[in-house]
Amino acid sequence: MSINDRLGRPLRDLRISVTDRCNFRCHYCMPADIFGPDYEFLKKNMLLSFEEITRLAAIFRKTSGIRKIRLTGGEPLMRKDLPTLVKMLSSIDGIEDIAMTTNGSLLPKYARALKDAGLHRVTISLDTLDDERFKKINGRDVSVNTVLKGIDAAEEAGLGIKINMVVQKGVNDSDIVPMAKFFREKGHVLRFIEYMDVGNSNGWKLDDVFPKKEIISQINKVMPIEPIDPNYKGEVATRYRYKRTNEEIGIISSVTDAFCSTCNRARLSAEGKLYTCLFASKGYDLRGPMRNEATDEEMAHLISNIWGKRQDRYSEERTEHTKRSSKIEMSHIGG
Ligand code: SAM
Ligand code: SF4
Ligand code: SF4
Repeated sequence: MSINDRLGRPLRDLRISVTDRCNFRCHYCMPADIFGPDYEFLKKNMLLSFEEITRLAAIFRKTSGIRKIRLTGGEPLMRKDLPTLVKMLSSIDGIEDIAMTTNGSLLPKYARALKDAGLHRVTISLDTLDDERFKKINGRDVSVNTVLKGIDAAEEAGLGIKINMVVQKGVNDSDIVPMAKFFREKGHVLRFIEYMDVGNSNGWKLDDVFPKKEIISQINKVMPIEPIDPNYKGEVATRYRYKRTNEEIGIISSVTDAFCSTCNRARLSAEGKLYTCLFASKGYDLRGPMRNEATDEEMAHLISNIWGKRQDRYSEERTEHTKRSSKIEMSHIGG
């Protein structure tokens, strides 16, 4: 049970965006001047319902053999009753791992219910421990402490935890070492993400990217690290551990060391479009056929066809001058 694309890559990982809304306005994702009070978010009837999401996830499971689902957004916890969806997804036969990427701010309220519903792991995004800098980045005056409380709540609930830090040159590269020290001590894996040119709103320039090589070199100077093997084929983060320990970090180097050749991720947007690449400009509508009473077999056929034609490798082809217009926004597709 596996479907391969034109470059021989199987579909293994399904990422589901449950909302395009967010309570933050990170300048690299949803800059406040573009995502302002007049911005038109998806209306409720345009969103896939929990039943539709669960039905599609089960069809993906049957068609491609996926075992892992990640919920994302926007901010996934802005979607009402999210634990109910987690419960519905965890009842799909063969789904072994449900994870969520979140800004962490609402975890004190929901961590326990999410765990009880069957969520296994959370990845919590935090770009700095400096309050002033964090408030500037998140565009909503949210303090670092709010996210740290979310991390604690996830820990108390017994969820697996990883931390994501997007590194931007001249913005928070001076936070690499303090973040590494802090989360090493806390016992959580920190993953550094190179700033990417997702969407069209963040004004990305290659010059703003703080490359993997320099991240490694900064950490190495203070706490020597060594590479370790990936957990599985297609893992996006390259893993390192502090020498002679089991404490690890990861680096997601989508810009300076692309990993398209093993990319096995499908992305379902909140309104039911299937995207075969994070940098896609076009998604394939699954909601329409579903609402027009397509059978499970017809939906499975549609999904296989879309994946079978896939040949995306945007990050491997990216150059400084790549200017693909009308890429889908990160808050829409979920990262
Ligand atoms: N709101 C949730 C959060 O922030 O974790 C989930 C959605 S967010 C779009 C998913 C991840 O993408 C976050 O870790 C975020 O930091 C990352 N991200 C957003 N824009 C990015 C960009 N331009 N380059 C690299 N990572 C980005
Ligand atoms: Fe919201 Fe996450 Fe985007 Fe920040 S990165 S604006 S928290 S969706
Ligand atoms: Fe996958 Fe597209 Fe990213 Fe390449 S650029 S790793 S194909 S999502």
